[in-house]
Amino acid sequence: MRGTRVEIRPAALAHNARRAVALAGDAQVFAMIKADGYGHGLLLTARTLAAEVSGLGVAVLDEALALRRQGIDSPILVAEGPFDSEELREAHRQNLELVIHAPWQVDLLLAEPLPVRLWLKLNTGMNRLGMSPRAALAQAWRLREAGLEPEGVMTHFACADDRQDTLTAQQLQRAWQVADTLGLPLSAANSAALIRYPESHARRVRPGIMLYGSSPFAWRSAADLDLQVSHRFSARLIAINEVAAGDSVGYGATWTATVKTRIGVVAVGYGDGYPRHAPGGTPVAVAGQRTVLAGRVSMDMLTVDLTGIEANVGDEVELWGDTVSVDEVAAACGTISYELFCQITGRPERIIV
Ligand SMILES: *Cc1c(COP(=O)(O)O)cnc(C)c1O
Repeated sequence: MRGTRVEIRPAALAHNARRAVALAGDAQVFAMIKADGYGHGLLLTARTLAAEVSGLGVAVLDEALALRRQGIDSPILVAEGPFDSEELREAHRQNLELVIHAPWQVDLLLAEPLPVRLWLKLNTGMNRLGMSPRAALAQAWRLREAGLEPEGVMTHFACADDRQDTLTAQQLQRAWQVADTLGLPLSAANSAALIRYPESHARRVRPGIMLYGSSPFAWRSAADLDLQVSHRFSARLIAINEVAAGDSVGYGATWTATVKTRIGVVAVGYGDGYPRHAPGGTPVAVAGQRTVLAGRVSMDMLTVDLTGIEANVGDEVELWGDTVSVDEVAAACGTISYELFCQITGRPERIIV
């Protein structure tokens, strides 16, 4: 067995969901499980998290339908809403909650006024999806005239995880203004806002990343937030080589030994979803001992510095998980844990513990 594997821990997911529920107070918690449950498996995350929270959130209809087909009957929010009238009818049949982010979606609804559950999406400063406060008010009245009462208004924060954040307060104020004018509940908070801004909780919070044992904040660890590791990526050491001072390692000869060095070859690469752009110095743990990458990541292998490490061929190497957090690896690679989770390919073995 090659031994390259992703270990998923439902008990950690459940623990993290209970943390979210405790932080949310009276607000409903909708667990965001889009993109295959942030790479943890759509059905597993749905089953595990549905037992702890008020509802689930996905990005697109297909994800919601996959859940319904598997018998998940929890409330499900579809964050990008319907793409066409066929999706609208299907969402109605499957009792899904749809986000309506643009006037063209209101047109779809008015052409086929089914009693669907709707959340009006506001752009309050992220400038991605959503209608301006003015447009949202106008569209809300169009819907109301057709007898379609939205369940609430929704917005998404751009900077709630940013240490210097000043935008969230403005976004929240704009969102409340619309919610109050329409007399509708509000949903705004992602993980960062759930943890950091209790004033943003409103009717419903939508945590994602914290459920997967990763901190939304660069300056606070997941352990510090009492979040448990739910995703552990590991592989095995398949060779140990000694290189002399002046020898280089790997494609492009980007790493050169300054002294005689033991190099470990690990059976994992970007073909498994480990990031190719992980630079030398990115942390890994060999048989529980922390060390670093040496040289470029290849498709099926990577190389690590075994200086000061007790290691044998066959030993387990943790890419991220318990000894090396996914957030540390993400920081070293100039990305975020979200991307690392989503990038795992079909090749590693998946194990549910
Ligand atoms: C993904 C998503 C979230 C969750 O964000 P996290 O940063 O993972 O907590 C919340 N709301 C919407 C609309 C999303 O798409």
